[in-house]
Amino acid sequence: MDICLYNGTEICTYDLKDESGIYYQDIVMEWKRRAAERKLICVDCGSPVYLAAGLIKEPYFAHYDIVSCAYGKRMESQELMRGKRLLYHMLKRSFPTKEIHIRHRLPNGLYATCYVKNGEGYDIAIDYRLQTLPIKELDLRVQYYDEQEIIPVFLLGIRQDKKEGQLSWYQTYIQNLSGCCAFLDTEEEKLIMKHHITYIENGKRKSKVYQKSYNIHNLSLAEDGRFLCDFYEDCESIKVELNEKEEREQKRRRDIREKERRYHEEQIRRESVLLAEQERKKQQNNLKLQEYQEWCKQEKLLKIDFHTVTLPEGIRRDVLLNCIEMMKNDQEEMISKRYLDYIYKLIKE
Ligand SMILES: [Zn+2]
Repeated sequence: MDICLYNGTEICTYDLKDESGIYYQDIVMEWKRRAAERKLICVDCGSPVYLAAGLIKEPYFAHYDIVSCAYGKRMESQELMRGKRLLYHMLKRSFPTKEIHIRHRLPNGLYATCYVKNGEGYDIAIDYRLQTLPIKELDLRVQYYDEQEIIPVFLLGIRQDKKEGQLSWYQTYIQNLSGCCAFLDTEEEKLIMKHHITYIENGKRKSKVYQKSYNIHNLSLAEDGRFLCDFYEDCESIKVELNEKEEREQKRRRDIREKERRYHEEQIRRESVLLAEQERKKQQNNLKLQEYQEWCKQEKLLKIDFHTVTLPEGIRRDVLLNCIEMMKNDQEEMISKRYLDYIYKLIKE
C-alpha cells in the first residue's frame, strides 16, 4: 500500500524519497514512530498499518494483522511502485501548488493511479498500469473522464513496448486520446514516447513509429495533460513532411504524364502534317500523269488516219469520226463504250 491516513490526512510513501530515490530518513523515523503508536490507519478498512522502508524494496504500508482488506491484499510489483514514485515526483514538480493524490478513488468507484486537483482548470487523472485493460473497461474509464471533464493521461510499463513497427490496438487507443503512447522505463528512469504514423508513399499505405525518449526527471506535465517536450511538434512536422513528399511525388508523376501526353499529341500532329503533304504530292503527281496521258492520247489520235483505217464489223466510219471529234474536245463521256474501246485499241497499237 502506498497511502494511509495519519490524523485524518492522507500520507504517501512516495514522499519518503526525493526525486533521485534517496530517503528522507527523518520522515521515515517519524512515520515509524506514529505507526508504533497505531496512528497510521488504512484508508480502506481503518485498521492500523506499519511502514516498511528498506533499502532494496520500495517503501510500503502494511496491515499489522491479517485482515480481509482488498487494498491490503493487493500486491504491487516493484516496477509499479517505482514507476508511481517517479510519476508522483514528476507531478509535484509540474504542479507545485496543486493537490496531488495517489490511488485516487473517483466517485464512480474507479481508481486513478495519481490525481491532480486543478482548482480553476481541469483535473488530471494519471492512469499508469503494467497490463492492458479490456476495451470495455477502457471505454468506461474514458467516457467517465470525458463526462467529468477530467483529462486522462495513460502510461504503460516498458515491457508493454513490443518495439514492433506499429502499435497495438490498446496503444493506438491511448495515442488517439493524448497524441502519443508513453512507456515508463523505471530502471532507466525514462519515458519513451511513441507515435504511430500512417501515410501514403507512391500511392501505397505505409506506417512508421516515431519514438523519442526523455529522462523522466527533465519532463513536466502541462495542464492540458501533455508533456512539456518537443515530441508532439516532431510528430506534426514528420506528418507534414511525409505529406509534402507524397504531394511532390504525385506532382512529379502528373508532370511526367502531362509531358508524355503533350509529346504524343505533337507526334500525332506531325504525322498528320506529313500525311497531308504526302497526299498533296501524290495528287500533284497524279495530275501530272493524267495530263501526260491525255497529251499522249491526243498525239496518237493525231497520228491515226481515221478516214482510211480498215473498220471491223459494227463500226461505222461517220460515227467513228464523230467520236474522234468528241475526244479531241474532251467529251469522252459522251462516246458509247463500243466505240471508245475500239478507239483505245487503235491508240495502243
Ligand atoms: Zn485495510
